[in-house]
Amino acid sequence: MSLSATSPSQRRAVRTAVPGPRSAELHARRTGAVAQGVGSVLPAYVEAAGGGVVVDVDGNHLIDLASGIAVTSVGNAAPRVVEAVQRQAERFTHTCFMVAPYESYIAVCETLNTLTPGDNEKRSALFNSGAEAVENAIKIARHATGRPAIITFDHAYHGRTNLTMALTAKNMPYKHRFGPFAPEVYRVPTSYPYRDGLSGAEAAARAIDLIDKQVGADNVAAVIIEPIQGEGGFVVPAEGFVPALAAWARGSGAVLIADEIQTGFCRTGTWFASEHEALVPDLITTAKGIAGGLPLAAVTGRADLMDAVHTGGLGGTYGGNPIACAAALATIQTMHELDLRAAARRIESVMRPRLAALAAKHGGEVRGRGAMLAIEIVVPGTRTPDPARTASIAAACHRAGVLVLTAGTSGNVLRFLPPLVIGDDLLREALDVLEGAFADG
Ligand SMILES: *Cc1c(COP(=O)(O)O)cnc(C)c1O
Repeated sequence: MSLSATSPSQRRAVRTAVPGPRSAELHARRTGAVAQGVGSVLPAYVEAAGGGVVVDVDGNHLIDLASGIAVTSVGNAAPRVVEAVQRQAERFTHTCFMVAPYESYIAVCETLNTLTPGDNEKRSALFNSGAEAVENAIKIARHATGRPAIITFDHAYHGRTNLTMALTAKNMPYKHRFGPFAPEVYRVPTSYPYRDGLSGAEAAARAIDLIDKQVGADNVAAVIIEPIQGEGGFVVPAEGFVPALAAWARGSGAVLIADEIQTGFCRTGTWFASEHEALVPDLITTAKGIAGGLPLAAVTGRADLMDAVHTGGLGGTYGGNPIACAAALATIQTMHELDLRAAARRIESVMRPRLAALAAKHGGEVRGRGAMLAIEIVVPGTRTPDPARTASIAAACHRAGVLVLTAGTSGNVLRFLPPLVIGDDLLREALDVLEGAFADG
């Protein structure tokens, strides 16, 4: 069972404008208290959520195609997660693993070491956020190799801390006036089949040539890549691109870091997106879907790399908080029990044909895998990005009670990240709304 007794009814219901009057009141109050720099995609304030539905304070039931950005893959307030959190909170809430350790941290690491691609010996370390996991993966790669340079890609997104801003491609809103950024970060072109027309091998050769000539293989500590780009617009690299970079890294003594923070934990129909190309990354970063909504992140990878760092060199006050660890174990158990990999593939089978029909009519491209699908929106008859139309379609979906997100360096991608426990009826209804929004937009 994927819903608790207190879950909201699984239907769309628009009772007021979205956002409605009570949300508007909260929004006005927020303006005097919350920094303007923190935005919200849809300022309909949430009262409850579960399954495929988010309920706002005006009683609107929104269909959730966002999962809080690929986080609540097991559903909001998933029963096992709630139970595990409650049980742990009653026992102890925090000791700091670096001060007085506890078993659940070990159990999460064991689970990650088994679940991630490759049957090589692995170790894990736990953190709080995706950006923190990325920072630590890079610390480990630099420490283990004794080299400075990090290779990142066009359209990449790795977070909002100083180093991860440097790794992230897009200026607005992530980097604008927040520099200077961390040094020794080099950006090379990715594989973007819709826009570059290159095979995976060709795109990899282009990137590798730049790395060799402009950075020097001997200087490279790590290549960090999203197997499918998230904020960058769900760009799926051409087949062979990532494996070719992995082979180059192996031959050069550089560490290949797969950032699976958005793609991990059943989202693309497998535990990790690296599996689609039989890729075994040296290090893998995870967060988002790992703990059913509680803040947790991890770096998992080759034991020789992970264990290279001196004791005390990795950590943080909250990393691997016991409540978050309990939630992660319950989340992963739920993913097994409900076979959420199959659920992601089922979601794709419902959504992809309908999205493809929209692209056939309006242009653009449908891409992604499993329950990580997107449509890139262009000026009809061209490949010119159309961010204004993308925003108006998203706004129309929101008004009609469907929570969708945009993405892409040009802001012209609508992306869909439904909870993996969403029902087919809700999905179909969301697609009806989307079709209407395209027709009007
Ligand atoms: C969201 C995301 C991050 C950053 O995670 P936070 O928890 O927001 O710090 C890093 N990499 C990828 C691929 C992401 O999608």
